[in-house]
Amino acid sequence: MAEKEQVIIESGEARQPFNYAVGMYGSKFFYELKNNRKFFGVKCPECEKVFIPPRKVCGSCFREMTEFVEVGPGGVIGTFTILRYAFIDPETGEQKPVPYGYGFIKLDGADTLFQHYINIEDEKNVKIGARVEAVFSEERKGNIKDILYFRVTG
Ligand SMILES: [Zn+2]
Repeated sequence: MAEKEQVIIESGEARQPFNYAVGMYGSKFFYELKNNRKFFGVKCPECEKVFIPPRKVCGSCFREMTEFVEVGPGGVIGTFTILRYAFIDPETGEQKPVPYGYGFIKLDGADTLFQHYINIEDEKNVKIGARVEAVFSEERKGNIKDILYFRVTG
């Protein structure tokens, strides 16, 4: 082998498709997103915090939560970042156009923050406390991509 010979390794395609159950609470969450474009969280009977996405037990009170409550689709940006480094999106296998926003959204009526993309139409409007609203995909499949992104409304 020549001292500076270039070695190329072909990794090939390694698809590993699989399905998994999201449980009763996840099913309610994704069913409502898909069929009604609504967000549902769950309320703790003791501290009355509303969690989204819904979960079975309040981490503070250790109480089972069974009361689903509608939240959003509007909210405010709790925190965010703007990504400028292009990379292959594992959700699509394609390069995600940059820049784009990613943030933690406090949906109206919820006490926890919900992570998702934030659309950047005008960067100066993307800030903590800005009002946002969910934009849903026209063809919803019952997964997190049913929400395209949150857009800043004010
Ligand atoms: Zn609680």
